[in-house]
Parts: sequence; structure tokens; C-alpha cells
Amino acid sequence: MHHGIKKLLLLGAGHAHVHVLARLAEQHPADLDVTVLTPYDFQTYSGMTPGFVAGHYSETECQIPLAPLLKAAGARWVAGRCVGLDAGARRVRVAAHPNSPASVPAELSYDLLSIDTGAVLNRQRLDADMPGAAEHALMVRPIEAFARLWPDVVVLARRQPVSLAVIGAGAAGIELLLAMRQRLQAEGLPGSRFTLVTGGGEAGGNYPAGVRRRILRQLKQQGVTVLREACVGIEAGRLHLASGATLACDVPILAIGTHAPAWLQDSGLALSDSGHVLVNPFQQSTSHPEVFAAGDVSSRADRPHPRSGVYAVRAGPPLADNLLAAHRGQALKPHHPPVNTLNLLSCGAGHAIASWGPLHAEGAWAWRWKDRIDRAFMAKYTLGPA
Ligand SMILES: Cc1cc2nc3c(=O)[nH]c(=O)nc-3n(C[C@H](O)[C@H](O)[C@H](O)COP(=O)(O)OP(=O)(O)OC[C@H]3O[C@@H](n4cnc5c(N)ncnc54)[C@H](O)[C@@H]3O)c2cc1C
Repeated sequence: MHHGIKKLLLLGAGHAHVHVLARLAEQHPADLDVTVLTPYDFQTYSGMTPGFVAGHYSETECQIPLAPLLKAAGARWVAGRCVGLDAGARRVRVAAHPNSPASVPAELSYDLLSIDTGAVLNRQRLDADMPGAAEHALMVRPIEAFARLWPDVVVLARRQPVSLAVIGAGAAGIELLLAMRQRLQAEGLPGSRFTLVTGGGEAGGNYPAGVRRRILRQLKQQGVTVLREACVGIEAGRLHLASGATLACDVPILAIGTHAPAWLQDSGLALSDSGHVLVNPFQQSTSHPEVFAAGDVSSRADRPHPRSGVYAVRAGPPLADNLLAAHRGQALKPHHPPVNTLNLLSCGAGHAIASWGPLHAEGAWAWRWKDRIDRAFMAKYTLGPA
């Protein structure tokens, strides 16, 4: 490395980092060497994944191709995953992605690090809470693996009616279940059964009461069975519920709350109680000023907010500003995450429930609105071929 050149390492190509890359495409300091460590050459946009499941979008319509973005940003791609971080030594341990096109270094060092690797399901914790889940369930994370496997479920359903159960009744679980139902209906495959296992609480428990009522009405209208129970174990063909009951189930789908990645635990970075990277108003680690983080992997120390794509997207521009400012030794700018965000919950069949703070409404217009927002997001970061 030439004297004076600084190394910026971006972990993950998440919602905030695609913006950082777009920004670097406009403005790339000559003395900044940029590397992106991320397993895939595309970034899956989760907001459109239920639409992909439903059959509205093709797989590639939900993917931002990274090659043109990386090229425009003047960034190098390392096809792998971060599996360890030593923040004291400013080093990251790398595991090559099985399909990696080139050989991958075992370690990467940095002067400036930014983490946007999203949320994960920790298989060990999962197996402790729900034995058999890691082996038998189709997990929604990593979302790339889920998108790969979903067509197999459709193939299965073409042979015989299936019973699908989504475990986890947050926005993602509800959207996915209704999307699955719509897909099998659109394919002319009647007779399948759809169950939502909530974990004990109500479906959409994080939403205000009015939105929850709308959700329940949709689920009921669409013939979804809602079980207000916790799933405590999974084996081939059935779920075990906390009450002692079992539920016959061909395809268990796990959309439960996510975890912080295990590799952060020994990193030396200050972490929240839940193990996420603790950041200040500049999206900067509270323990290591040369480390920044955004999206589901991070937790704001000053004002924790929910983990969702909307917050990750909003953090993109201030993160880009602050990485460039940190590189130049300039003052950082605080990021003010929104108090309320627009939430559009797709219910399949071109219908969505819109909510913003205490306000809520639903209809086909809400679905079209979501479709427009999602497509605009994709278009913004989808550059022409490299
Ligand atoms: C089905 C579904 C639908 C959703 N719909 C919505 C919605 O409509 N609106 C909303 O606000 N939120 C939605 N969410 C939540 C949303 O997906 C997340 O909050 C959002 O993806 C977080 O973005 P992120 O940038 O933190 O991480 P991600 O988008 O998960 O990106 C992480 C990136 O890091 C890479 N990566 C992962 N691990 C590593 C590693 N160890 N090393 C290197 N790279 C790594 C990944 O490949 C990926 O490129 C949905 C979630 C799901 C599952």
C-alpha cells in the first residue's frame, strides 16, 4: 500500500452500503482504497421478497447487481463472509464463499471499517430454543438461501396439497404467508393449508391495535389458521407446540426475530445487551472511532429504534457522509432516525395495509404505492452493465 493511502473496508452490501457505494461512485477520494467483503454479487431487497414469493416479481427483479456498482465506486469485491473481527488489531477474518470466483484472502486489514451485514439466525441459539428447527425448517435468513429454496416448495405443492406453517408473526412472517397462499392459488393449486404460529402473542404484535385488527381480518378472510402458541420443537412432518399439541406440517418456515452475528462477540467492539454493534449518533462505534455500523447489525446507544429495512436505508446517506468525513479528518454529522416510518404490509393479491404512527388504512392503492417505492429503490441502485 502506498504511503498515505487509507483502507476502507465495507462488510456486507446491505441497504446502507449500496448507498455508500453509489456515493463513492460520485466522489472517490484518490487516497482511499475501498474493499467490499460480501458473499454474493447481488444484494437481495427483502422488501420485494414477499412479492417474489407471490409471483409478482422475478428473482432478479429483487436483486441489485453489485458488479456495476462496485466498478463505478472503484471498489474491490472479496466474495466471502466476515467470520471474525479483532477491532484492536483492525483485522477481519474471512471465510470464502463456496462459489467465490477468485481466491480469497484469509484476513483483511483496514484503517476505516463499516459494518452493514444485517441480522442473522444463530443456529446454535435456535437449536436450544427450538430443537430440530435448524435441521427441518426453511429459514427466512439468509434471505438469498430462502429465495433459492422457495421454488422447491412450489414444485412440492404441484405434486400434492401441502401444509405450510410460518413460525413468527411479525411483518415478514405475515407477508410471506399471505404471499405463499397467493402464489399457490395463482398456480391453481387448491387444498394447501396455511398456519401462522405467533409465538404466543397476537399476529403483528408490534403494530398498533387498529393495524392488528386489519391484519387479523386479512388472515381470516384468506383462510389462514392463527395459532397463538409458541413452537418448541420441529421434526420431519410436524411442529411441537408449547401446549403439548402437535401440528402436522410439511413446510415449516421460520420467520422469528433475528440475532446479532456471533462473530461480534469477541471483536472487542462495544455491544448492546443483545450483542449488536453499539453506535453513537454518527453511526460510529462507541468504543472504536474508526468503526461505523448501520442497519440490523447495529444499535443506536442514544435512541434505540426498531430494526427494519427502512431504518437501514435512511442510514445510508449519513453513513456515506461520515465515512468520507472520517477519512478526511473532518467533523462528523449526527443522523436523526425518523420517529415514525411508513409501513406498507403487503397482503398478497395486490392489497396492502399502510400505517404511519397511529394512522392506518388499506387497499389496492397501498399495494401500488409499495410497488412504486420498492421499484424506485431498486432503480436507484441498479446501474447498467459493468
Ligand atoms: C421477508 C422479509 C421482508 C421484509 N420486508 C421489509 C419491509 O417491507 N420493510 C422494511 O423496512 N423491512 C423489511 N424487512 C426487514 C429488512 O429485511 C431488514 O431490516 C433489512 O434487510 C436490514 O438491512 P441491512 O442493511 O441491515 O442488512 P441486509 O439487507 O440483510 O444486508 C446484509 C448484507 O450483508 C451480507 N452479509 C451477511 N453476513 C455477512 C458476513 N458475515 N460478512 C459479509 N457480508 C455479510 C449479506 O449478503 C447482505 O449483502 C423484511 C425482512 C424479511 C425477512
